[in-house]
Amino acid sequence: MSMKFDVVVIGAGPAGYGAAIRCGQLGLKTACIDKSLDKEGNPVYGGTCLNWGCIPSKALLDASHKYVEARDNYSAIGLNVGDISVDIPKMIARKDEVVAGLTGGIAGLFKGNGVTGLPGTGKLLADLVVEYTQHDGKVENIEASHVILAPGSVPIEIPPAPLSGDQVVDSTGALDFQAVPKRLGVIGAGVIGLELGSVWSRLGSEVVVLEALEEFLPMVDKRLSRDALKIFTGQGLDVRLGARVTGTKTSKKQVTVAFEDKNGEQQVQVDKLIVAVGRRPATTGLLAADCGLETDERGFVSVDEVCATKLAHVYAVGDCVRGPMLAHKGTEEGVMVAERITGQKTMVNYECIPNVVYTHPEIAWVGKNEQQLKDEGIKYNAGAFPFSVSGRAIAANDTHGLVKILADAESDQILGVHILGNQASELIAQAVIAMEFDASAEDLGLTMFAHPSLSEAVHEAALAVGGHAIHMVNRKRK
Ligand code: FAD
Ligand code: AMP
Repeated sequence: MSMKFDVVVIGAGPAGYGAAIRCGQLGLKTACIDKSLDKEGNPVYGGTCLNWGCIPSKALLDASHKYVEARDNYSAIGLNVGDISVDIPKMIARKDEVVAGLTGGIAGLFKGNGVTGLPGTGKLLADLVVEYTQHDGKVENIEASHVILAPGSVPIEIPPAPLSGDQVVDSTGALDFQAVPKRLGVIGAGVIGLELGSVWSRLGSEVVVLEALEEFLPMVDKRLSRDALKIFTGQGLDVRLGARVTGTKTSKKQVTVAFEDKNGEQQVQVDKLIVAVGRRPATTGLLAADCGLETDERGFVSVDEVCATKLAHVYAVGDCVRGPMLAHKGTEEGVMVAERITGQKTMVNYECIPNVVYTHPEIAWVGKNEQQLKDEGIKYNAGAFPFSVSGRAIAANDTHGLVKILADAESDQILGVHILGNQASELIAQAVIAMEFDASAEDLGLTMFAHPSLSEAVHEAALAVGGHAIHMVNRKRK
């Protein structure tokens, strides 16, 4: 006899586990299938985010940032730490412990919410049946009243740079170097390439980042991307724009990377190469040929604005569907689907998704940037406040960047907030809340903020929209 559940979720990343946990909370008999295994071959939940993405990358970003602070910046504030050194195996092992703690936490949350975790591979068959293949090869069919597809994504591989053992690696391999490469190449100056390039550059690698596009971080507000590029270059990241990688040659000693830029054919020699050219949906083998659903030519599952597929009772969430590939976006979609299954009318506000690049300074934004507002012909007022005049930033000896707020010229409603600076990932939450509640710049300006705090820069930028920031001289409004 086959197993039967109200809901079967395929994939236990942030989208899938979010869906499964919420289904469990709502009293639905729920199973969540996930095929991931840790380095020792044990089943793990948490998906890319916990195992090979957000969490391990932040563990290494935070550790490497602390090292740079101690090495380069402590003496300026009166702390002499002497020679400090890096213990990479320990740093990597500690990162693995952080991951193990959190993935174990998901298993605990499944238990606590009555979700049955099923290690192995899921495949959607016809008529709401899910084929479940365990790691030992045993196959059984599960009947479901609802199926939620959440298989996530995997790194894109490109023919000019095939992965080769530990020399040419993807983002997963770059989280596990056991020594600091002397020369490191990174293909792709996207979020992942910049974050991983920053980690190893801080720890001592000479890093060259090859990016095919002419523009640096095209999705970021131009003022911020321009300032960020200058800062990152100053930190030692050699970012080459308009540099398309055309081939790689690996020898025992090094990797030769061929690329084309405006000066023609070029080469660079590195010890390790990270391929960080984007991710694609992990939907290969997910859908049986006769299940009634196929992916598009790029592997995405088509869904409407509430993550329903064209098959009744089958939903898809997270990186395998349209929209930015971000953990929190997937979790919100998973929760929305769970609630809609039980008759609630939950929606995700796709206009209010925060984006963060965890470099130092961090780059964070929500809503529209100036280019987009101009392209859409929307009239707006802008207010900006630099951290160089923030008392808290000065006290902390970390004054790079600014907060910029864009508000509708007529209604004053906040349309976008863009932050370059220390803790931008935390500060952006204020902007997301304000925008969720349709706040105006004036609303934020009338709100009281603790002094001294980095948050005051958000307050001052809101005041600057109206031309009356207190702690800087305002530009005259035309
Ligand atoms: P995933 O997390 O990819 O999880 C899907 C799970 O489903 C996986 O465990 C997979 O093995 C499993 N699976 C797939 N197919 C099947 C199947 N047929 N049967 C059973 N199991 C299956 N996002 C952020 O928001 N913030 C960040 O700071 C951030 N940093 C990142 C850093 C790196 C280095 C990387 C690589 C990604 C980062 N991301 C970040 C992106 C984030 O990890 C993803 O957006 C997020 O994990 C997507 O969640 P998901 O649940 O859709 O899929
Ligand atoms: P993201 O999708 O944000 O992770 O960024 C990946 C980046 O890799 C994009 O900016 C692409 O332009 C870049 N990219 C893709 N292929 C190549 C290539 N062959 N050479 C250099 N950069 C590339």
